Amino acid sequence: MSFIVAIDGPAGSGKGTVTKLVGQRLNLVNIDSGAAYRCIALETIERKVKIEEKQKIIKMLDDIKIEFRIENGENVIYLNNKNVGDRIRQKDVTQIVSQISSIKEVRFTLNDIFRNCANGKDIIMEGRDIGTCVFPNANVKIYLDASPEERAKRRFKQNQEKGIDMSYDEIIENIKKRDKNDMQKEIGALKQAEDAIYIDSSDMTIEQVVERIVQLIDIEKIKIHKK
Ligand code: C5P
Repeated sequence: MSFIVAIDGPAGSGKGTVTKLVGQRLNLVNIDSGAAYRCIALETIERKVKIEEKQKIIKMLDDIKIEFRIENGENVIYLNNKNVGDRIRQKDVTQIVSQISSIKEVRFTLNDIFRNCANGKDIIMEGRDIGTCVFPNANVKIYLDASPEERAKRRFKQNQEKGIDMSYDEIIENIKKRDKNDMQKEIGALKQAEDAIYIDSSDMTIEQVVERIVQLIDIEKIKIHKK
């Protein structure tokens, strides 16, 4: 049986870094659901399809192949056999991804892919609706949060390291817009699952957040073991 850890939260809350570190430490397969939504956004851009052309986007889903691979110990995402790890973080993708992910057919298709990836494995998966929709029976559910200002600061630093050109003001505006859109989605809205543990990471270091989550996972594993 799989052991599933769901890490949900808004953009810039530290999900990506924390998920990666906890996954490496506990040997869990790491799945970044946001990266898959970004792949659909990228394909929409590359095919010059407009966001309003919903039917074209839905049709496009039939010939899209998304794979999560591990290369040199790093998680890499492939879209139609091409490594798109860096490309999907660029501004044009970030600007439309929330709208793309509001299309329910996109969500259903990706949820199937996520569940197939997890089949029989121990996984840690980050996103917006993992604990509420994708894996409502996940063993451990975390809702990771931080203030919008702190999140924008972190994303600005991350972007600079990756050579992505976005100002702090652009980032905070995008974060607030995405938060709003993500929280209002008809399906898969960003919200804390009732049984999720809330962690506000605004004043915590990455190491402290990782320690806390590892602790929570350990407690859950002990409980399962005792049953
Ligand atoms: O986590 P990341 O910022 O890469 O996610 C990109 C976008 O994908 C989010 O703003 C959100 O709109 C969408 N998303 C989603 N459901 C998920 C993960 C991401 O709707 N489970």
